[in-house]
Amino acid sequence: MTVVKHVDVHVEGIVQGVGFRPFVRSLAIRLGLAGRVRGDVNGVHIEIEGALAGVEEFLTALERDAPALSDIERVTVVSGEPAGHRGFTIAASDPSGLRRALVPADTATCDDCLRELADPADRRHRYPFIGCVTCGPRFTIVRGAPYDRPRTTMAGYTLCPACAAEYHAPGNRRFHDHTAGCPACGPRLRLLDARGADLCGDPIACAVTLLHAGRVVAVKGLGGFHLAVPAAHEHAAATLRGRKHREDQPFAVMAADLAQARRLCTIDDTAAGLLTSRARPIVLLPRRPGAPVAAGVAPGHRTLGLLLPYTALHHLLLAELGEPIALAGGDVSGEPIAHTDADALTRLGGIADAFLTHDRPIHVRADDSVLRPMSGEVTVLRRARGYAPEPLPLRHRVPRPVLACGAELNSTICLAAERRAYLSQHLGDLHDQDALRAFAEAIDHYCGLSGIRPDVVAHDLHTGYPSTRHALAIPGADLVGVQHHHAHIASCLADNGDSGPVIGVAFDGLGHGPDGALWGGEFLRADLATYERLGHLTPVPMPAGAIRQPWRMAAAYLRHDHPGLAVVRRNAASWAGVLGRADAPLTSSAARLFDAVSALLGIRDTVTYDGQAAIELEQHADPAETGTYPAAVTLRDLRCAGDLLAVDGGDLVRAAAEDLTAGVPTPVIAGRFHNGVADAIARACQTLRQATGLSAVALSGSVFQNALLLEGTVERLRAAGFRVLRHIRVPPHDGGLSLGQAAVAAARDRA
Ligand SMILES: [Zn+2]
Ligand SMILES: [Zn+2]
Repeated sequence: MTVVKHVDVHVEGIVQGVGFRPFVRSLAIRLGLAGRVRGDVNGVHIEIEGALAGVEEFLTALERDAPALSDIERVTVVSGEPAGHRGFTIAASDPSGLRRALVPADTATCDDCLRELADPADRRHRYPFIGCVTCGPRFTIVRGAPYDRPRTTMAGYTLCPACAAEYHAPGNRRFHDHTAGCPACGPRLRLLDARGADLCGDPIACAVTLLHAGRVVAVKGLGGFHLAVPAAHEHAAATLRGRKHREDQPFAVMAADLAQARRLCTIDDTAAGLLTSRARPIVLLPRRPGAPVAAGVAPGHRTLGLLLPYTALHHLLLAELGEPIALAGGDVSGEPIAHTDADALTRLGGIADAFLTHDRPIHVRADDSVLRPMSGEVTVLRRARGYAPEPLPLRHRVPRPVLACGAELNSTICLAAERRAYLSQHLGDLHDQDALRAFAEAIDHYCGLSGIRPDVVAHDLHTGYPSTRHALAIPGADLVGVQHHHAHIASCLADNGDSGPVIGVAFDGLGHGPDGALWGGEFLRADLATYERLGHLTPVPMPAGAIRQPWRMAAAYLRHDHPGLAVVRRNAASWAGVLGRADAPLTSSAARLFDAVSALLGIRDTVTYDGQAAIELEQHADPAETGTYPAAVTLRDLRCAGDLLAVDGGDLVRAAAEDLTAGVPTPVIAGRFHNGVADAIARACQTLRQATGLSAVALSGSVFQNALLLEGTVERLRAAGFRVLRHIRVPPHDGGLSLGQAAVAAARDRA
């Protein structure tokens, strides 16, 4: 007689909404085992019984053969008494208790679904909302946990008999697929005019006709609306840019497939892997000379933000159009993108000529993620659709749950508990009411999905940030104020699973120092819990209005020298007035140094979005230039605490001004300036290594979104024998700040 073995198996991680329970059932049936599986708030719970050898094989295969989208974090096995199960069933989920089961990120249409999409014999032939247990919308349609159809925006669609049969058929690709649907029972596509009235005919064919005619079509994606025009259509791109007034940000370009994408950009194996990954991010890539892209798509940029279709709707649209489309965010001028139909019609009615939309609600807004290959690795510049809400692993346990509120621009929030950090999707700049509402909703939603009830709340030292005010108003929480640039370096440490101490180089916009000054070009000695300021860029006055008018920083650096320069002549009416003001605060900001040089070279006197002057300066620079400018690196007093070292950015501006006067071409000057900054960082770190004994450097802050600077700096530091940490999974700018704040708060809680 065979001995019946019974075990209870608990699986934690991303195991809901990824076909895990159907996988468990078919595995058990194949091995002749009985029992049941059900989702609970912590993951899935399996009772399995049968012959010992079968149970052992089950436990091995459970992890080895798990579905592609699953990510098992922990498996706990406990032996028990046989319960006399007959057959194997999937039981209803248990929604009570603390929720640690995770919701997967949205995932691009899989190859199996694409085959059905193209098959005239399939009942989902050309169905724009085709999906299965391994692909489709997840995070953006989920209202609560555990992940089950009634808690998604698919709840309103009743399965037709054919879909219901698949849903209940073990072994079917759509067994327990909570997004299941078909042309008879699922979401439906519509094409609306600018006033919201239905346009007749096939929505995709009509949209294609409009696009060919150079019209702007708003397209509903997974996380919100985009505004589309054909990428090569000069007039259409100019029209779209004109209607999105006050905006200079480059548009992304979506190509039908890799072959079409290769006509636009140089794509190596790494880039091809990123473009075709399940997350389908925008990837910043070198644009091919003569690529068929209208001038208005990415003016002044040598790179293009490229992406491939991530929903069946995009696949159908791109295939029928036969050429790439330029995609702008579905907003008017920098506020969060529209994600409900009503909001889209209200806000985008003056921009879009038509709306290609559907009736499946988007519950959570999520922008496209943006990645950039830099210095042999890939850095995430915007972490949203396709990545959120998947947690980042932490090296150290978090003693009490933490909520970190981030800063103001590129806002994110972060919840941390045990060894996981849930970094929210990019929430935008907290300037307007819509973004503030999204910020508060994100905190509630992530608390709901993760079950985390924070005891500790981390925030920036700047009390004027809406995020800080929100933190200070949370009743009963232990508050932890984290210095802005310490949070940047801690974010880089957490991103790399490191805990320091390191020499932290935080080259950034502006952040409050504990001395009340405006920091932003900082050299810190930092670990997760503590930091000490070792040095900084030599402070200069920051004239009022300098953030929107970089030429004012050129004035602050050049003063009355070089009166013949074009930047002085262009701004002659206000130049002396700017310098005459004695009340300008001092700043050591590296971003403002880049602004000054951008204006000096005539690239940007004024900007319409954060970082624009520096971004365009990088795009303008000749990457082959090897010349450099020397900046004085002065060590004041080794024994004196803080303020050890000063790097004079003014030397770089003056050298650039002299080259400009001598008639050196501006791309060469921009190249030499980048090299000069990288040289200065490397020399400063060498001096600080002698002073501190530290030989690891962490690079963070918005200025390190600049590939030319990052590559030059990493190369020089490695050549000097440093171990270099740079951002990989979270952005170097303030979008990664909440992770750093959470890491600091947790480290202080452990101490
Ligand atoms: Zn699929
Ligand atoms: Zn159906």
